[in-house]
Amino acid sequence: MRVYFDHNATTPVDRDVVDAVAAALRDEFGNASSVHYYGQRAKAALDEARAAVADFIGAEPSEIVFTGGGTEADNLALRGAAGAAAETGRRHIVTAAFEHEAVLNTVKALERRGWTATVLPLDKSGVLEPERLRQAMRPETGVVSVMHANNEVGTIQPIAELSRIAREGGAVFHTDAVQSAGKIPIDVRELGVDLAAFSAHKFYGPKGVGALWIRRGVRLAPVITGGRQERNRRPGTENVPGIVGLGVAARLAASRLAPEGARLAALRDRLEEGVLTRVAETGVNGARTRRVPNTTNISFTGVEAESLMIALDLEGIAVSTGSACSSGTLEPSHVLKAMGLAADRAQSSIRFSLGRANTEEDVDRVLEVLPGIVERLRSLAPSGR
Ligand code: PLP
Repeated sequence: MRVYFDHNATTPVDRDVVDAVAAALRDEFGNASSVHYYGQRAKAALDEARAAVADFIGAEPSEIVFTGGGTEADNLALRGAAGAAAETGRRHIVTAAFEHEAVLNTVKALERRGWTATVLPLDKSGVLEPERLRQAMRPETGVVSVMHANNEVGTIQPIAELSRIAREGGAVFHTDAVQSAGKIPIDVRELGVDLAAFSAHKFYGPKGVGALWIRRGVRLAPVITGGRQERNRRPGTENVPGIVGLGVAARLAASRLAPEGARLAALRDRLEEGVLTRVAETGVNGARTRRVPNTTNISFTGVEAESLMIALDLEGIAVSTGSACSSGTLEPSHVLKAMGLAADRAQSSIRFSLGRANTEEDVDRVLEVLPGIVERLRSLAPSGR
């Protein structure tokens, strides 16, 4: 029996998405910029996907720009907004310490180009306190970027409040919604943001394709140069099959959101309660009340998270020690560190992220093998626990 509990790293591609991508790859080979029949067909496929993504997030199709994934959408948002803000003399950017590397390293790149950055700290809740942003705002703040849901602990941020503060200060607000899309309803206008990044492979779509929502009227400086595709915002011949897959994944996610959310929350809670009651010295990281329904991040005192992950893998259970990009190193998670967790707690924490195909049997299988593994690892620990 195999159990996949790593849906925040990536999700299996939905069968309907696979079929739609295969059909587009075979049949829609035209270049969407061509005026002839083949080009028009490809263009129609892009239009349909654009409408699907717009419906999914409460936007207008003309506000959607397709990208090569979440990282590229974050780059386009931050570099584009920073470039436009700099023209008005605003060269200060604010973000939070628990962001994905796609944002944190882009902010660092802007710093190397003369921007100043404020990286807001968090507390144990993993929820950013809006007051911290209010205090960080300066007259020259041009861009604020705070993620909607965190990838490691799943906490949901008070985006509407944060974006209001940014707007009052005259700054553009970007949210990385890669981990909330498909897990909780998203309405970009209710969130009050200017820019929002999405990635298809986090909601049962293909990898390497995503979208940036750009509120009408928001100016972005060009980031990559080339042709006039995507209204001059993202040059390059469109990845028609990938974009078709994104569109189908968005429609499926929208139709399944409510029942899936409730089902996953119940499974996640069963897992969490089971672990906390059956394994001593365990604790949940981050606020349990403001979370996406599929995620829990649990610390196992005295256990090296990498060893636990490998032992679970040998039992056919896939989990993660944090963001996939930083696993393979023994660095404690920057998210848990940013939340003020001690290094040893951060290094003994595991993320379980559930998804569409998971069942109660999967949860019960994990609860069956986990206590024994933790006991064995603790008995082997150097401290002789
Ligand atoms: N932002 C967040 C919060 C993520 O979790 C990820 C993926 O791990 C990304 C951005 C990057 O998205 P992509 O893998 O599509 O580049």
